[in-house]
Amino acid sequence: MRADRTGSNPSDIRQRNRALVLKLIALRQHVSRVELARMIGLTKTTLGNIVAELVENGLVNELNAKNSNGNTNLGRRPIELRISDKSPCICGILIRRDQCTGIVADLTGQILFRISSVIPTSVSSDSLITLILDLITDLQRCCNRKLIAIGVASMGPVDVTAQKIVNPPNFYGIQDVSISAIIKNKTGLPSYLIHDADAGALAEYLYGHSSDIRNFIYLHIRNGIGAGYILQGQLYRGDLGQCGEIGHTSINYSGPLCECGNNGCLELYANVTKMNQKIKHLKGILNQSPANEVLNGDFTWEEIVRASANDDFLAVSALDEFCTYLAYALANTINLLDVNHILIGYDSTVTSTKIEKMLEDKLNTRVLVAKNRKVIVKRSVFGGDAPLIGSVAQITDLIFQGKILI
Ligand SMILES: [Zn+2]
Repeated sequence: MRADRTGSNPSDIRQRNRALVLKLIALRQHVSRVELARMIGLTKTTLGNIVAELVENGLVNELNAKNSNGNTNLGRRPIELRISDKSPCICGILIRRDQCTGIVADLTGQILFRISSVIPTSVSSDSLITLILDLITDLQRCCNRKLIAIGVASMGPVDVTAQKIVNPPNFYGIQDVSISAIIKNKTGLPSYLIHDADAGALAEYLYGHSSDIRNFIYLHIRNGIGAGYILQGQLYRGDLGQCGEIGHTSINYSGPLCECGNNGCLELYANVTKMNQKIKHLKGILNQSPANEVLNGDFTWEEIVRASANDDFLAVSALDEFCTYLAYALANTINLLDVNHILIGYDSTVTSTKIEKMLEDKLNTRVLVAKNRKVIVKRSVFGGDAPLIGSVAQITDLIFQGKILI
């Protein structure tokens, strides 16, 4: 495998066409040569040569389509192509404040193996690295297929130029971890780092239901709030890959001091602790609420989302306030970028669209030239897993651009 810059000579053009064919087979699965030739605009001969090479290298399989009698297709229907179940895979790692998750996924973005480890509050840079390397070792043991590379998605700020995790707020003092170099040194595999919200945006664009939307903001909600931007059909990463820190944009210049050094950061207002404070504040007034009856301690995020879906007034009020703060920050971003589509990712088994609807309503009354704009807010197809899928997608994206050859 090698990473390359591509130009416009015949070899480069073939390389890009090969990558594009691989991408279309990976993203569509069950696609025929005829369909591929039509989509890319290649001659049947050129396309046939590329597909033959992909099959020969074990990246692509020909499906033996059978007719209604169970006999092998005799040529009436085109033979379908798909990514081989023996093709190389990618290892992905997602670093969150409380948990590190590792996966092995194939070129289609399908997760084959998944392992998680709790990050203790006593964690140091060294023990975090050990934990990540142990995860990778465990995943390598599970997977009997070749691994191409290891992608890491981390909460920010990250420096993608230096490939290091800089100094995430409230992350136990961990800072300046050159994670990609360490992983490459220990495993011998190339490693790439991406901001978690950027990863979420890329996962949605590559593997989700948003591939036809050229401009959208992916918003990830968990312990913090991050944003990733797909602009003009590409992931926008900024100079250092630090552009997604919407949680550390101020919505109150005279607000409390945040650990990041800013005053009144969004995350200081839009968080589960504040939602619980809201619920407790309203408890005495609205003691008929079902949530009030079952509430012994603090609600978790999942419990608030679930109670809101059941129209519990206390939970709905807390969620409404959360979305109000979020809308303040997002309205600024929308007005700056001129983007209509918001995708949000969060952990929850609840299928309700209450959060999306609340946020959408608030944004559509706030954003500039609201009469001419309709902001659409949808939940990520991956729920809270978009950054995890994105840790892998950052590598498959390079493969599909012909910048990493396999
Ligand atoms: Zn902050």
